[in-house]
Amino acid sequence: MSLNPEQMLAVLNALPDPVFVLTETGRYAGVYGHADPNYYHSGHDLVGAYLADVLSADVAEWVMQHMQLAWDKGGLVKVEYPLSAAQVKGLESQAGPDGVIWFEGHIQPFPRRVEGERAVIWVARSITRRKLLEKELLEASQTDPLTRVANRRPLFDLLQSRFSEFQRYHHPTSLILFDLDHFKQVNDRFGHLMGDQVLTTLCDICQQTLRDNDLLARFGGEEFIVVLPNTVMEQALHLAERMREVVFRELSACFPQYERAITISLGVSEFLISDPQFESLLQRADTALYQAKHAGRNRVKACLQ
Ligand code: GH3
Ligand code: MG
Ligand code: MG
Repeated sequence: MSLNPEQMLAVLNALPDPVFVLTETGRYAGVYGHADPNYYHSGHDLVGAYLADVLSADVAEWVMQHMQLAWDKGGLVKVEYPLSAAQVKGLESQAGPDGVIWFEGHIQPFPRRVEGERAVIWVARSITRRKLLEKELLEASQTDPLTRVANRRPLFDLLQSRFSEFQRYHHPTSLILFDLDHFKQVNDRFGHLMGDQVLTTLCDICQQTLRDNDLLARFGGEEFIVVLPNTVMEQALHLAERMREVVFRELSACFPQYERAITISLGVSEFLISDPQFESLLQRADTALYQAKHAGRNRVKACLQ
């Protein structure tokens, strides 16, 4: 026994994901499934409309290109793409999830012509949760959990790419390595928890001083690094001095129970033509930081070569 068309339609509309039949003139010949508004807006009103009527020209063109890929291949084409109801005319007022939905599209040539036209079956599965999880995982893998600034991973990636750019085009990059002064005493007097709060507050204060393209990263313990793309030594020294002043002024004010000023020492370096690898920049900043500590702390030093 086989199902009659009405029963087949009931089966199709019970599918959790939207299924579109699209023809080569860009017409929605059929829209099925996706009854749950928690995941999708209802696209059933689209039947009879054309892609160009409901989508922006570039999105409609993109859809047509992928239909063509499926015909050229003669089989399944998979693609991931973001789309929000606001991008599809007629869906704005439908119940459905807010914002961008990420889809995995399964596009297959339709085995027969539909009203004389070639057609595809386009099944669109929501993969928004997976995409959000991927984003969260990526962020977590690149972020220091205490201070929420970058960890070594994005730091080294940026240094590597800036070093390549310096070698090829001589675009400058400078670096500031800084370290809290006598931080052990803060921990010893007020405990590790307050020490943690000092580290977090220090990062917040520094972030406010930095520009959009500067990267603040936790290098380890109470040592941090700022990478300054397109910045020469002279500008980097100015910025380091400003950071020193702001930290000196603001960090202690946040912890009045500690009667001493909480300060940082900073070492500054920039890429040199003679550098064999990006680590040379770190080594020079470390040398400069060492000099700043030995010169009495709460100061900026540069290492020029
Ligand atoms: P100096 O001016 O020479 O840098 O002195 P210092 O006391 O800051 O340096 P030292 O290297 O002796 O001590 C660093 C301290 O930083 C010791 C360590 O317990 C503390 N520290 C490192 N990471 C953390 C952290 O995540 N939280 C807290 N609370 N303390 C940390
Ligand atoms: Mg220290
Ligand atoms: Mg240290």
